[in-house]
Amino acid sequence: MTDIAANLAAVHARIAQACAAVGRPADAVALLAVSKTFGAEAVRAAAAAGQRAFGENYVQEALAKQAALRDLALDWHFIGPIQSNKTREIAMAFDWVHGVDRLKIARRLSDQRPAGQPPLNVCVQVNVSGEASKCGCSPADAAALCRAVAALPRLHLRGLMAIPAPAADGADARAPFRALRQIFEAVGASGLPVDTISAGMSDDLEAAIMEESTMVRIGTAIFGQRPSTTGP
Ligand SMILES: *Cc1c(COP(=O)(O)O)cnc(C)c1O
Repeated sequence: MTDIAANLAAVHARIAQACAAVGRPADAVALLAVSKTFGAEAVRAAAAAGQRAFGENYVQEALAKQAALRDLALDWHFIGPIQSNKTREIAMAFDWVHGVDRLKIARRLSDQRPAGQPPLNVCVQVNVSGEASKCGCSPADAAALCRAVAALPRLHLRGLMAIPAPAADGADARAPFRALRQIFEAVGASGLPVDTISAGMSDDLEAAIMEESTMVRIGTAIFGQRPSTTGP
């Protein structure tokens, strides 16, 4: 049996330690629990241990879990690749979307966000690893896409998100997160009120936090290994 409460406590300790190492307060980093491939009962166990924000990659799976957990007040973040034909469901059922990497998707999400709900929180995904990843806009395009997202009426631009390729042996694990931070600083300096860097996963949360990540997305370290057939 996976001890989700103990795993959550261990992740909070890692976050606190990484923050302390660079002089940041421990509450500077929010924890998003990535529950993809795990069932509603795993989410319920994490919620019982105090976790409120959950990340999902697959729309249908997320909707089923949300339906089973209606009695809890949870925040749902969509963190997977976004297909055009899923934007309506995403705009209706989520509080945040992290993987916005082109204007067409942003426009659809804004058009389809229901009027009765607050604007959808959005992070623009940036490809900071070049060839190694196909998702995310190029660093050169990030500021313009952020400006366009900020101008859409039903979206609330929060910041940037990245999924760097795993660092090669001996490479500087902080380098891609540093690149993301520099783009974030440029976006902020351009006058857009961004407050979120969504970066860092189970294997690299320390490197991300040392480069000013404000939200880490953690799956394996909380819920255990995912079945390999259902990655990523
Ligand atoms: C699956 C996933 C995570 C969680 O990864 P772990 O290595 O299990 O912590 C974080 N972010 C995104 C976008 C993911 O798809």
